Amino acid sequence: LIQIYMPLNFLGFVYREIKQALVDMEKMFGMIRQQSDINDAPDAATLKINGGAVEFENVSFHYAENRKILKDVSFTVDAGTTTAIVGASGAGKSTISRILFRFYDITAGRILVDGQDIKDVTQKSLRQQIGVVPQDTVLFNDTIRYNIRYGRPDATDEEVENAARHAQIHDFVMGLPEGYDSEVGERGLKLSGGEKQRVAIARTILKDPAILLLDEATSALDSETELGIQQALEKISESRTTIVIAHRLSTIVNANEIIVLDAGEIVERGTHDDLLTRKGAYFSMWQKQKEATAVLQKLEELDELP
Ligand code: ATP
Repeated sequence: LIQIYMPLNFLGFVYREIKQALVDMEKMFGMIRQQSDINDAPDAATLKINGGAVEFENVSFHYAENRKILKDVSFTVDAGTTTAIVGASGAGKSTISRILFRFYDITAGRILVDGQDIKDVTQKSLRQQIGVVPQDTVLFNDTIRYNIRYGRPDATDEEVENAARHAQIHDFVMGLPEGYDSEVGERGLKLSGGEKQRVAIARTILKDPAILLLDEATSALDSETELGIQQALEKISESRTTIVIAHRLSTIVNANEIIVLDAGEIVERGTHDDLLTRKGAYFSMWQKQKEATAVLQKLEELDELP
């Protein structure tokens, strides 16, 4: 009986692990899907990485037949450079990261990584090369060490702690009564949005992917936390191919290219300076954010009055 029970028990364990990982990924992208209809091609190759250049070639996509989401989108992110995607809510920004991760297949065009169509390579080898720092990180109901190590399961304790240091969360963890063995997640310690994001950054540092997808949080963090996170993000995106979905334009002034998306179409592209000179859609977004920041500053100053 034991001979049958042991493998079954093990399979149950593996099943639960895989299921939890999938749930995490899906939550990470803010979506619930019934089942995956993405399959590897029968002769799918392993993605060969050479810097991690990303190319969208006339990409169109829809979730439902009657509503086009991306329309003929083309852009290139050279290896090691940063492209930022901005645009109103619902413009299709997060969709770009979902289809690069191949959660969905596109309806027209091609997406290439280092010249290889992502449809022709295994999903596993593609996803291994993409690190995602999502808007809202979902933590496993496990220790903080487990949650960071998830980025690379064979990492040593020392590597986990080093990653945490780079993500500026080590001191916080050391201040917890049980340190790295503290339980987090729904049944454990509740972490703030900024702390969870640092865990995601530490995970990504361990994973060391060629391509980085950063989905900037829309929720406001306090300015000190935000600065810390911004510094940690800048560090991991340094000389790594990076796509940032940005909500605060102040964080992307140094991007190599900024793409402005409107209702699934690219309406403007260029550097921050180019786009300001053009005085188009990006310029008005910039002006609006500047005004909003000035108002917030005034309110903060008033708050400080005796
Ligand atoms: P935000 O800034 O608010 O995050 P976004 O630009 O990232 O917005 P997307 O999340 O890419 O926008 O969504 C683009 C459009 O696709 C939206 O209108 C959204 O309602 C729709 N959409 C997103 N996910 C799905 C889905 N799973 N099924 C059907 N429609 C979807």
